[in-house]
Amino acid sequence: MENFYTRLCKNCGSALVFDPQKQKLVCPACGTEYEADEMKGENVVELDLMDTLKAIEQYNEDDDKLVVHCPNCGADSEFPANVVATHCQYCGTPLTGSTLSQRTLRPQGIVPFAITHDAAVMAFRKWLQSLWFLPNKAKKLKLEETMQGVYRPLWTFDFKTTTRYTGERGEHYYVTKTRRVNGKTETYQERKTRWYPAAGTVHVAFDDILVPASNRMSKALQEECRWNLENAVDYSEDMIRGFDEESYDVRLRPAFEESQEKAKPQIQSAIRRDIGGDEQRISSMDTSYADLSYKLLLVPYWSATYRFKGKPYTYIVNGQTGVAHGERPWSVVKITFLILAILAIVIGLYIMFNQ
Ligand SMILES: [Zn+2]
Ligand SMILES: [Zn+2]
Repeated sequence: MENFYTRLCKNCGSALVFDPQKQKLVCPACGTEYEADEMKGENVVELDLMDTLKAIEQYNEDDDKLVVHCPNCGADSEFPANVVATHCQYCGTPLTGSTLSQRTLRPQGIVPFAITHDAAVMAFRKWLQSLWFLPNKAKKLKLEETMQGVYRPLWTFDFKTTTRYTGERGEHYYVTKTRRVNGKTETYQERKTRWYPAAGTVHVAFDDILVPASNRMSKALQEECRWNLENAVDYSEDMIRGFDEESYDVRLRPAFEESQEKAKPQIQSAIRRDIGGDEQRISSMDTSYADLSYKLLLVPYWSATYRFKGKPYTYIVNGQTGVAHGERPWSVVKITFLILAILAIVIGLYIMFNQ
């Protein structure tokens, strides 16, 4: 039996999954390959931000709480909040419930997985081995069992800014002074700053300011990942099969506000350049925005969480590039030994030099 939530193998009836290496749907049971939905990028375009904000603010948006009927075991699988695709909680069949999603905005595009599960596990192991002061137990983790592929949402923003500012330009000058050193009089130069009022207007344009939209993984880890968004293709269920998909936890308005904060340092340095001189002070900034647009995309993570001495750690591998990032435990024993070794050397040297 087939429904919206799965595509089944015509040969053996198993649920098909997307294979990052072949960029096709593959049957995990018998290996038969199927073409996935065509991977175009027609919908991956910037949308007008102000129009969208106006349109969605009349809705009181709820989190996604999907219940998906599993065609394999017949059970109704309850997905965690804001999860749109995952595996059946009873039989493990991959289910995509995107047609049931209640979110007002759906992702326009996907950066497809290019890194396979095995390659992700390898990248991780390499990363783990390279870390200093990692507890030995952590090096022997069975990551392959916990490593899950998940598509997480990402907002991107484009806009042009015009900022009127006031401030001051500082110019250095030197005065000659005298002082007495060891009973002799000598002259020296002292640097001073003269401040002049400054005001003006700067224009800075921004392209693809990224704001991660998931609250389920540390923001810092999401920010560390670099994406080639040129490779994004239209959203399609086929690309999701076998992976988890999350809808956004961070909504459009707060995400836009965050993108404005991210733009600020660049505007400030434009102002400093505009003021010129040796030093600058900015006392007021008034920024207006034009040509505001956004995109909502899904980006691929291989993700594993494990507990070490009761504390949870998250490890991720960028599903597009294979670069590993993670939170890591430290080995207290190894660090203590190193400190003791350094102390021993220092004491040894001290004794040597005092003989
Ligand atoms: Zn099959
Ligand atoms: Zn099931």
